[in-house]
Order: sequence, then structure tokens, then C-alpha cells
Amino acid sequence: MTAASAADYQLVRDLRAQSIFKDLVPDLMPAQNGTIVVPCADGERITNLLTQHWAICGSGRNCHHTISLNGGPLLLPKGSPVAHLGERRVLLEHAYGGHRLKAVTTIVLYGHWPCGAALGAGLSLQEALAYCVEAKDVIRTFFRKRGLEPDVILCFHVDYANGRQRSYYFDRRLWEAWVAEQQNAA
Ligand SMILES: [Zn+2]
Repeated sequence: MTAASAADYQLVRDLRAQSIFKDLVPDLMPAQNGTIVVPCADGERITNLLTQHWAICGSGRNCHHTISLNGGPLLLPKGSPVAHLGERRVLLEHAYGGHRLKAVTTIVLYGHWPCGAALGAGLSLQEALAYCVEAKDVIRTFFRKRGLEPDVILCFHVDYANGRQRSYYFDRRLWEAWVAEQQNAA
């Protein structure tokens, strides 16, 4: 089983304190038409992740089209060290297929930690988070080129290794401001 370090959990606490990881509440999840969900396949976390996702989508349309491969959204950015088999194209086309088949207009990307695919590729938590943000842009650009403007929601699931697993809304604007702040301070 993959494990996160104490420093990783400290970073998660910092991101919570900065409201970069927000409580995932229904107002942040436009699920009235269902969702296309792109999580990592991680079998030890997927049950918890999807159970939380279904709960947060509440009374929205009960259609959650799940496209899941090892690494999930980390497979989307060009040059990602997690992708080696053309998964980027596969994920994008299948997300688009989900939209065409089910008329779903909300795409939810779930990064997670600890992620065996990310750790196996040598990524730190901070690098994985940066790839998740890039993945959001990749999927939005792909749909835009087809004349579509879906809601793209970025979430992040954390396994605290004490029996508790939790998904958060990942606020990319606050993240980018925080990263810029860190770079200026360095
Ligand atoms: Zn994973």
C-alpha cells in the first residue's frame, strides 16, 4: 500500500488552512445533469471516493459516468511522467464520449494522495497538485475546441491512513496565488 509522508500531511493541513482545499459541499458541485468523473483507479480508495462523490451530488441526476485509469487526471497533461501509453487521448475522447452519450455537462477531476502511480513516477505531492491544475486546463481546452463549455471541477481525495479518507474541492486560483507567494519568498 502506498503511503504519504508526514511532510505531505503537513502540506495538506496548510492547503486546508489557506482554503485551497475546501470542504466539498453540494454548492460547489453542479451535478443537476450528472457528472463525468475522472479519478485514479486506486482500488483501495475508489470506493470511498465514489461514495463521497455520489453523496455530494445529492439530488442531482443519478448519472455519474466514471472514466478511471491509474493516475486519473495526472495522465492528461502533455509530458506527464505518469502517462506512457497514449492515455491522454483515451481519457479525453472517452470524456467527450460521455458527454455525447449522456448529455452530461460537468466533468469532475479527482487527484488523490497518496497515489501509487504518481509516487512510482517520482512525483511529489506538490508536483501532483500542479499536474492536476494543468489537467483542468487540458480538458477545458479539448472541449472548447469542440464548441463546448462544460463545468470542470477539480477535487482532491486524501487518505489520512487512520481510517479516514476525505475529498476536497481544490481551488486552483488560490493555489496559483499561494505558489506565486512561495516562489517570491524563496
Ligand atoms: Zn492513484
